[in-house]
Amino acid sequence: MAQVTRQTGAPRALVIGGSMSGLLSALALARGGFDVEVFERVDGALAGRGAGIVAQPQLIEVFRKVGLAPDGELGVHVSERHMFDLAGRCTHRTRCAQIMTSWDRVFDLLKTAFPATRYHGATELSRIDQSGTGVTAHFADGSRAEGDILVGADGIRSTVRQLFLPDVTPRYAGYTAWRGLIAEAAFPPGLHAALFEIFAFCLPPSEQMLGYPVAGPDNDLRPGHRRYNFVWYRPASEHEELPRLLTDDRGRTHALSIPPPLIAKGVIAAMRADAERVLAPQFREMMRLATQPFLQPIYDIAVPRMAFGRVALLGDAAFVARPHVGAGVAKAAEDALALADALAEAPDVESALRRFEAARLGIGHRIIARARHLGAYVQAERRTAEERVSAERHRTPEAVLAETATLDFLSEP
Ligand SMILES: Cc1cc2nc3c(=O)[nH]c(=O)nc-3n(C[C@H](O)[C@H](O)[C@H](O)COP(=O)(O)OP(=O)(O)OC[C@H]3O[C@@H](n4cnc5c(N)ncnc54)[C@H](O)[C@@H]3O)c2cc1C
Repeated sequence: MAQVTRQTGAPRALVIGGSMSGLLSALALARGGFDVEVFERVDGALAGRGAGIVAQPQLIEVFRKVGLAPDGELGVHVSERHMFDLAGRCTHRTRCAQIMTSWDRVFDLLKTAFPATRYHGATELSRIDQSGTGVTAHFADGSRAEGDILVGADGIRSTVRQLFLPDVTPRYAGYTAWRGLIAEAAFPPGLHAALFEIFAFCLPPSEQMLGYPVAGPDNDLRPGHRRYNFVWYRPASEHEELPRLLTDDRGRTHALSIPPPLIAKGVIAAMRADAERVLAPQFREMMRLATQPFLQPIYDIAVPRMAFGRVALLGDAAFVARPHVGAGVAKAAEDALALADALAEAPDVESALRRFEAARLGIGHRIIARARHLGAYVQAERRTAEERVSAERHRTPEAVLAETATLDFLSEP
């Protein structure tokens, strides 16, 4: 890669990580007058990484502020949440209007809005130098880039975080999620009528299954062409069950997560057998349609700092919240906007970054705490009295329906 050197004129931002947080930061900083370069380790497309995403109002608001206008609808509108018991009866229902979008849809929107010539794939950050006047990113291929600020948007395994906070590592939450997307066309009419248009839940003992509709491939929102996204949380002990789930058919145990095609056949077969045993009949039928389920071990990360001189840490690099709050992308978006706002208001980069940290650190910790409460019910082990109290509360259908995937608690005092 060519060296990226500083020029006179606009201040330059170096963004490490070209996924959601990276692109959101890049767009927000470019709008604030920065000359922005994005450096992404992966060579080629990132599409297809995630599944369904709840388009929180906070995300939509940030889109508006950075000038992103989705062409057409952002996703599928749902208005009701239903809880099914294990006999298949709908025992509780609430109204809750939300837009369900997908990782691919949001990523495409962001990627298209950012100039391709400033997005550098296959460029892995390895080291950072900074002084009172600038910051230099050094990459694994020997190239480097100079800027006024560096944004660590490099996700759960963040190199930037490791450089500044080597002691902060992902902490396994005690459970995993089986996830997947099922084509709407595969749903038989009876199952479609029961499940497809709603945000549906069921609560087997110490487990949670949920599902909701999202757009089909290429954001196809036409009835018949959409997909159903499911997330099935299951406890798995850290030292026995988790390594077994992450061991492929060749006997290799993967760290943190396992690529979907490598999940051992026996692991998938056992999961399918359990689905027949423990889920509500609607979800049992749905799971039979799931062709490529993937496994996501759930981790927590929380940092004590987000600003290090001219270096800012945000998105999943700073805080990884368990998915129950539906906060990942909305949090990344608000981090990005807060950073751009702080840089616009403060007299210099370092005080801007301190201001950014002051605005976002507490919110990151609140989201993490909330996600831990919501997830305590499915943890393999509940270590503290607080976790046991949370587990009791979040086993109730009322609490699950009211509190999953909403960020309303952030406006509470
Ligand atoms: C596999 C997966 C599935 C997900 N599914 C969902 C979902 O369905 N719903 C939802 O709400 N959220 C989901 N999330 C979480 C959500 O995408 C994130 O919370 C949110 O998008 C913020 O992500 P991020 O950009 O901070 O981190 P990430 O999406 O993890 O991106 C970090 C990027 O940094 C790059 N990178 C890492 N190290 C370096 C380096 N040294 N140099 C250069 N680049 C580097 C990585 O390749 C990656 O592209 C998922 C995340 C992952 C990883």
